[in-house]
Amino acid sequence: MPDKKESEYVAPRDARGRKAVIDVRDLTKIYKMEQIEVPALRGITLQVYEGEFVSIMGPSGSGKSTMLQILGALDQPTSGEYYLDGVDVAKLKDAQLATIRNKKIGFVFQNFNLLARTSALRQVELPLLYAGAHDRAARARAALQIVGLGDRIRHHPNELSGGQQQRVAIARAIVNNPTIVLADEPTGNLDSHSGIEILKVFQSMNRERGITTIFVTHDTFVARHTDRIIMLSDGLIVADHPVAHPFEAGAVDRPSEGGELESIFKETYQSNGARAALH
Ligand code: ADP
Ligand code: MG
Repeated sequence: MPDKKESEYVAPRDARGRKAVIDVRDLTKIYKMEQIEVPALRGITLQVYEGEFVSIMGPSGSGKSTMLQILGALDQPTSGEYYLDGVDVAKLKDAQLATIRNKKIGFVFQNFNLLARTSALRQVELPLLYAGAHDRAARARAALQIVGLGDRIRHHPNELSGGQQQRVAIARAIVNNPTIVLADEPTGNLDSHSGIEILKVFQSMNRERGITTIFVTHDTFVARHTDRIIMLSDGLIVADHPVAHPFEAGAVDRPSEGGELESIFKETYQSNGARAALH
């Protein structure tokens, strides 16, 4: 039998008719270190539909970053299938991966990953430069306005707070109109006030602009602001919950005692015998 052609792929849809922009089937990732094989993902099957705001949770070492890197085409799986917006990513070579990353994915890192001696405007123009786009300055300025930094476009990273630097990184992630924005613990290096500001930006980008977003966090309070929570343990999905009433960023204080989600989280990990520590 010849291989299925890409054109034959039809993205599944959810009950609301939304198309799967991420469609992953039985994905594995095994890191090889000298003689030792480290299984980081052990068979992930997952669909994320257009317009969703999803968080991925799990203890340290459960495979969150590995999964996000594969979803972001920064790394390839060991086995399994991955369709991103209809493209069969697992079959792509490095150069094609770079192209798909630039066109379809906006990535936000925990440590911002900004260039030190470069203005906010230039940082945000970079993906457009790689894509060979026109009207770069105008588009970069518009993206900075969306994240609330329209008055900081000439500032360099060392002239901005942590929260503002992360907002520059978010503007850089959305400037190309990607299919999906992926963020690995984007509030992890921020104080709680700046963290909430970043959550507000993600929430409004998702709600007002329909930007599909996947957000890795080990913080149940942060996850409680998204619409769907996926929990990983030892490289497997052990829970996948819709959030009936997501918190409005800034409108709800962090509870001093763990809320209902914290108990789901604990139950999930205790019943699976996983490490309960949230580091
Ligand atoms: P998380 O982000 O949930 O903390 P990771 O995806 O970083 O988890 O790691 C999952 C597992 O894979 C861990 O056991 C980790 O030690 C291992 N791992 C991650 N990256 C590498 C790598 N580059 N080489 C070898 N092992 C790795
Ligand atoms: Mg990680």
